[in-house]
Amino acid sequence: MPVPLLDVNAQNHPLELELTAAFARVLRSGRFILGEEVEAFEAECAAFIGAGHAVSMSSGTDALLAALMVLGLGPGDEVLCPAFTFFATAGSIARTGAIPVFCDVCPVTFNLDLESAAARLTLRTKAIMPVHLFGQAAEMEAMRTFATAHRLRIIEDVAQAIGATYHGRSCGTLGDLGCFSFFPSKNLGGFGDGGLVTTADADLAEKLRRTRNHGMHPRYHHATVGANFRMDALQCALLRVKLRHLGEYAAGRAANAKYYLERISRLPGVVPASAAEGGPAARIVLPLAAAHLGHGWNQFTLRLPATGHRDALKSHLTARGIGCEIYYPVALHQQECFKNLPPHAIRACPVSEVLTREVLSIPVYAELTGAQLDEVIAAIAGWLEV
Ligand SMILES: *Cc1c(COP(=O)(O)O)cnc(C)c1O
Repeated sequence: MPVPLLDVNAQNHPLELELTAAFARVLRSGRFILGEEVEAFEAECAAFIGAGHAVSMSSGTDALLAALMVLGLGPGDEVLCPAFTFFATAGSIARTGAIPVFCDVCPVTFNLDLESAAARLTLRTKAIMPVHLFGQAAEMEAMRTFATAHRLRIIEDVAQAIGATYHGRSCGTLGDLGCFSFFPSKNLGGFGDGGLVTTADADLAEKLRRTRNHGMHPRYHHATVGANFRMDALQCALLRVKLRHLGEYAAGRAANAKYYLERISRLPGVVPASAAEGGPAARIVLPLAAAHLGHGWNQFTLRLPATGHRDALKSHLTARGIGCEIYYPVALHQQECFKNLPPHAIRACPVSEVLTREVLSIPVYAELTGAQLDEVIAAIAGWLEV
């Protein structure tokens, strides 16, 4: 039985009637840019997330870029971000002319390590960009204390973590700005690209609205330079349908993760995340599910500490038709495009470098059947036996 890493059709096809009705509504309205559907989607997202304001954007990457722009960040500024994340986190910083300063991450949560961040502060450091990687909430209380002490703005990269919580509060409401993505593989997966920025600050929200529309206000007057970062009305209408089901999708992912954690932990050589430095006996380290970190389970990511084991398990699963992927095989401070950044921005990040060799994500999407979950577990068990 094949088990793909993600099956967008299994989620979208049951919604065909609702989706085509939303399409027909936009078609008949003739309004394709901004307008009612966009405003309704933003209001519904703000309510779901518990944010004061939500401004939709053309993608998660553009959400990050717009967030950096409204904070006035650019040449001469430095922004701290993790070395172990998707490229867009750092790419958006570099696009403003600011310098992404890469920090190492925690081997248990995979999220930004503040000790590493502290060692990279300079007089030019203006902001910090924690990523709730794989849906796991970053330690935001310590993050806020750190940011306050060093007068840094916090931009949360929530691209993988819509619905994730920290001590019961939604990710995306714990910093100055929260940036979301609706790329099809994210937890609220769209029908193309889309993004969103949340903030409690009405002034920043207004700046975001102008920035996404060429900095224009009023019509044909431009006090600042923005860009076209608008999300389509059609995309908003379609995602309003899926937003109504997001709670079910989240519950499905959480149930699948719980099942994996229970069943895989019984296999020989498997240790929980808290014992990540479990020594040579640990063949597979499970991801962390901590009570105060409400994991969104965008990915279920295993660590295989022994040399060559990650690639061996990947081949084993692939040969059995089970989708799996390495998120991410190259740490960002080692990317070619950043090789000319100042030395302190690209200092060694040993944990991130180790993780690029040890991580493997397996299917955890809500629509997996019990038989598919068991197939994945049986394949892992089979690999552990040899
Ligand atoms: C997907 C992703 C982004 C970018 O989102 P897009 O909508 O694809 O532009 C940014 N950061 C992280 C961590 C992501 O996973």
